[in-house]
Amino acid sequence: MTFSLHGQAVSRGIAIGRAVLVASSRMDVAHYFVAPEQVVAEIERLRLARDAVVAELGRVQQGLQELAAKDAHHELSALLDVHRMLLQDEQLEAGVKHWVVERHYNAEWALTSQLETVARQFDEMEDPYLRERKADLEQVVERLLRQLRGAASPLQVADGQDSTVPSAEPQTDGPLVLIAHDLSPADMLQFKQSVFAGFVTDVGGKTSHTAIVARSMDIPAVVGARTASTLVQQDDWVIIDGDAGVVIVDPSPIVLAEYQFKQRQGEVERERLSRIKNTPAVTLDGERIELLANIEQPQDTQAALAVGAVGVGLFRTEFLFMGRDGQLPGEDEQFDAYRRAVEGMQGLPVTIRTVDVGADKPLERHTRDDHLNPALGLRAIRWSLSEPAMFLTQLRAVLRAAAYGKINLLLPMVAHASEIRQVVALLARARAQLDERAEVYGSVRLGAMIEVPAAALCVRMFLRHFDFLSIGTNDLIQYTLAIDRVDESVAHLYDPLHPAILHLVASVIAEARAQGKSVSVCGEMAGDPAMTRLLLGMGLRSFSMHPSQILAVKQQVLRADTRKLQAWVQTVLESDDPQALLMD
Ligand code: PEP
Ligand code: MG
Repeated sequence: MTFSLHGQAVSRGIAIGRAVLVASSRMDVAHYFVAPEQVVAEIERLRLARDAVVAELGRVQQGLQELAAKDAHHELSALLDVHRMLLQDEQLEAGVKHWVVERHYNAEWALTSQLETVARQFDEMEDPYLRERKADLEQVVERLLRQLRGAASPLQVADGQDSTVPSAEPQTDGPLVLIAHDLSPADMLQFKQSVFAGFVTDVGGKTSHTAIVARSMDIPAVVGARTASTLVQQDDWVIIDGDAGVVIVDPSPIVLAEYQFKQRQGEVERERLSRIKNTPAVTLDGERIELLANIEQPQDTQAALAVGAVGVGLFRTEFLFMGRDGQLPGEDEQFDAYRRAVEGMQGLPVTIRTVDVGADKPLERHTRDDHLNPALGLRAIRWSLSEPAMFLTQLRAVLRAAAYGKINLLLPMVAHASEIRQVVALLARARAQLDERAEVYGSVRLGAMIEVPAAALCVRMFLRHFDFLSIGTNDLIQYTLAIDRVDESVAHLYDPLHPAILHLVASVIAEARAQGKSVSVCGEMAGDPAMTRLLLGMGLRSFSMHPSQILAVKQQVLRADTRKLQAWVQTVLESDDPQALLMD
């Protein structure tokens, strides 16, 4: 039966494919595809695990019988009988085998997929006694998973994979789309190397970091689709409309044909845009505009150069730190990553932002910051300053990489003069440490992100201390409007065009220009072609965005006349309804 779901549009385009469901973190298991020649071994793993659990239950029951025959023991024994029956249930076994044989899912993924399928059937049962057997089934599957964990697949060990995200090539016909309750930014990064044509999550806002990484992958995605992972079933055909934020499940042939047409139109449009790749980004009135790339990994520089980016405006280094089981990257590893980014850009400048973990970017996957307000807590520069040894390691690595090319060092979430002083002192210490080791290093320009209202409101103080500024509109909107950027329930209030945001952004740009300092926008606003004229009219000449957005923004630049836009922006800034003026 066809039905549709609505969420937040994350990245443009249409994806059509079969659903691959990733289990919720309640049963956090590895998901990967096994090679065809390993299918038999994977089924054997499952059989051994099942036999071991049956034996384990038998031992427990025997132990119970040896105890005095109290009622409670009878009850427990009956429950164990149910568990043994479930373990030997043909539907469970056949279903699990199906996922391994037909879809090449690893044993754990096959088990949780089948659990989801059978659990739905239990949910629909009239009889409350039978409905409650779902809990037994979950316990049985958990036992099996524990057993499997003790007998990891050779592939998993060899690859060192331990993730919720499928990584190897799937063995299926046609494209696949990923449906999950939630994906951490670290999961998304791994997902970047996989083959999915699109993805949908139940939770998340447009500028959550999961959505940002998805955008960098340039595949259609919808977040905040609330119940997608419970309503969509494994293997369902799904259309993801990344422009409208709509997910259509089990579409009729007419709907499918319509979206296939839209998909082809999108490809034609991309092809057309690629023709301006080498055209300089200059407005009609001759203003040269700097279009820079946001990256998460050194290898993203290839995508940046491919679309003609003239530098990296934001390297989110926290992605080097995430999902590493507490083993943070050392100085050499970081140096290597920064040097590769710098060399990858072939002499163009690279803006390296110091680590910005916390809030929706936890260091470890599937961990939640359990402070009451994580977005207001120890994140970004606050975390770095609370971990000076870690921060010094990063600063030394950046300084060493600066011997290989132009590096701008960018600090996230600075708000206090004391933070500026501490960073300057730590930078001096990092240089002294490198001197002591007679290590070669280069010089860096120092910049601050303007992403909390306090920084925007006292931008003159920042301009006295920093060589350049970069406006992080994602957080500036979150903190100015008091809207959690990750929370889909308030996503409708997350408004880049709120007059307060426009005033803050315009005043930071104006002040920086008045003082002759460079200023850029590196939040998602910079990559939205609908915002390009507005930002140009405010005087912005440097935009940093995901490589996938550069050509669409460049097209707007080529059509713009900044002299006319300047006057128009004044009316927008005075309006109660900027959105309406933008549509004109
Ligand atoms: C921002 O806040 O706009 C920004 C670019 O930083 P991040 O999205 O990584 O928080
Ligand atoms: Mg930010």
